[in-house]
Amino acid sequence: MSEAVTTPTHCPYCALQCGMSLSPTAGSVEVVERTDFPVNRGALCGKGRTAPAVLSSRVRLTGPLVRCPDSGALKPATWEEALAAVADGLRRTRADHGPDAVGVFGGGGLTNEKAYTLGKFARLVLATSQIDYNGRFCMSSAAAAHTRAFGLDRGLPFPLEDIPRTGCVILVGSNLAETMPPALRYLTELKENGGKLIVVDPRRTRTAEHADLHLAPRPGTDLALALGLLHLVVAEGRVDEDFVRERTQGWEAARAGAMSHWPELVERITGVPVPLLRDAMRMFCDAESGMVLTARGPEQQSKGTDTVGAWINLCLATGRAGRPLSGYGCLTGQGNGQGGREHGQKADQLPGYRKLDDPAARAHVARVWGVAPESLPGPGRSAYELLDALGGEVKSLLLMGSNPVVSAPRAAHIEERLRSLDFLAVADVVLSETAELADVVLPVTQWAEETGTTTNLEGRVLLRQRAITPPDGVRSDLEVLHALAGLLGWEKGFPTDPEEVFDELRRASAGGPADYSGISYRRIREEDGVFWPCPEPAGGETPHPGTPRLFLDRFATSDGRARFVPVVHRAAAEETDAEYPIVLTTGRVVAQYQSGAQTRRVDELNAAAPGPFVELHPRLASRLGVADGERVAVVSRRGRSVAPARVTTAIRPDTVFMPFHWPGEGRANTLTNPALDPVSRMPEFKVCAVRLETVEQS
Ligand code: SF4
Repeated sequence: MSEAVTTPTHCPYCALQCGMSLSPTAGSVEVVERTDFPVNRGALCGKGRTAPAVLSSRVRLTGPLVRCPDSGALKPATWEEALAAVADGLRRTRADHGPDAVGVFGGGGLTNEKAYTLGKFARLVLATSQIDYNGRFCMSSAAAAHTRAFGLDRGLPFPLEDIPRTGCVILVGSNLAETMPPALRYLTELKENGGKLIVVDPRRTRTAEHADLHLAPRPGTDLALALGLLHLVVAEGRVDEDFVRERTQGWEAARAGAMSHWPELVERITGVPVPLLRDAMRMFCDAESGMVLTARGPEQQSKGTDTVGAWINLCLATGRAGRPLSGYGCLTGQGNGQGGREHGQKADQLPGYRKLDDPAARAHVARVWGVAPESLPGPGRSAYELLDALGGEVKSLLLMGSNPVVSAPRAAHIEERLRSLDFLAVADVVLSETAELADVVLPVTQWAEETGTTTNLEGRVLLRQRAITPPDGVRSDLEVLHALAGLLGWEKGFPTDPEEVFDELRRASAGGPADYSGISYRRIREEDGVFWPCPEPAGGETPHPGTPRLFLDRFATSDGRARFVPVVHRAAAEETDAEYPIVLTTGRVVAQYQSGAQTRRVDELNAAAPGPFVELHPRLASRLGVADGERVAVVSRRGRSVAPARVTTAIRPDTVFMPFHWPGEGRANTLTNPALDPVSRMPEFKVCAVRLETVEQS
């Protein structure tokens, strides 16, 4: 294949957004290594390498499906019939029950252009406040804590390339060796450079195996762990007094909270021995610079915002924020987890990361959209609350790029809610478990067949480029929304060309916290991505270079100072008891991605990770009489899942782990607790109480 037809682009899956090139082959594309992209320098995990398999999969949808009223089955339909059925379904609900009876559910995998258009569609065409997306289940606690402390949320306020050059990293609740394997090199290079790695995780994961120090707290207690470390920082005189005085506010209250968490108490809460706590504190403070990086472990809790806040307080007290090679960062999960939360598909936000209840923000976006600010609906329900309201106050749902039947907490209940809808339309590339319930299924184009931007975990805006022609019978999400807008009477139409949408998005974001106005497709191509904020300069001035590093001079608060937020430990929403004596925590495995809608369709990935399992300690296994590989039932207050046991000393004896990628009897989210964080509305995926039961072996 000639070089001229090789298209540089990015992986469709996780937030690392690895660079790759695509070369057309018969009926699909071949992945070609792309070493020039700095984030992954050519490295890809198995998911990225095999991503083209979904493009040509025999289970890929290539024509719309509409549910037959007589047989109840999904039947092939024309696009005209399918779009008319969606417009009718949404219109009927709106006429009978009002605009807020129509819900919209988006996804953190949608490009910036799609997320922007979906939010605009919901607020202008449907006039509904009821829109949120699955990213709420991903990083919302970190985003809330980031904003609270620094006045601005960008996953990493520094580029990944800074990690190997810092002195010490505390990695909390991230198994990046499995979730984003090429990122592991940043940690191995850190160690090669003499830096230290502390991993906080209840499991000795593949990532934890690289740690200089592994702390394995009981799930749901990492807030207490951070407070214990801060206590020791104060007790041993390691507070950076100058930094605290000059660049922060609120230290005294945060200090008082930490001082009530003396190390012995923290040991009792977390199970982490005091000497290890002390070693961790000294390792972190002895280094000249340091970072704390969190992921879903501390974030997916009913106190996720405060838990992340406690780690941020540790950074601030030790002067490890707003300085070169130091800071707090969140390792976002989904492919466009960062951009997906910036452009208006979130219940409380408008494009540019503007707040929906801010009159100035409403006025700005309304001007770009050519409508009156008062016509924009207010904030709606968060993701779980929206799903929980289905069939109640929310009667119809349009869903794009998400599979809540597998990925939502208390999933059996959410599945029931979806079944109770008057009308459900799903746009997807395969017949996901959620699409199977729909009245209309709209088959849409995939990553390699369309162009659009994503924003990776560093805040680097990237361009995915179309490399092949989509099959006949599919349309892009942008075309779907344009057509539906027309059918629903929106006469101004919506652009379907991604670059045209991006130009509008730039104007909508101008002057906002996530300012994209100085970014263009041309610049992204030429510069391998551009970091926001990147405002458009006044006429004739040099283009803004983008902002790889935030907060070095000032934080994004009104007075430029970071905020300590006083936090105290509190128990998980559901504690263990005599009936449910074990803690369940959930997560991912290297060969599957999120709900598995795409990766479960790839033979090579299925061979590597064919199904769910229950990871448990040998002591627990022997108490139960369960051998490795035998099926075991996990029962919570919400349901029962059955999967083979995987017996390992790499997990605490009081905890079991299940990956959440699969539907059916081994669905982990049948068990999880939807208790919500009061600030971020994040459900508590990471902690719930269960019991184990033996089952008859098949
Ligand atoms: Fe794709 Fe993430 Fe794997 Fe990179 S690490 S290849 S972005 S799934």
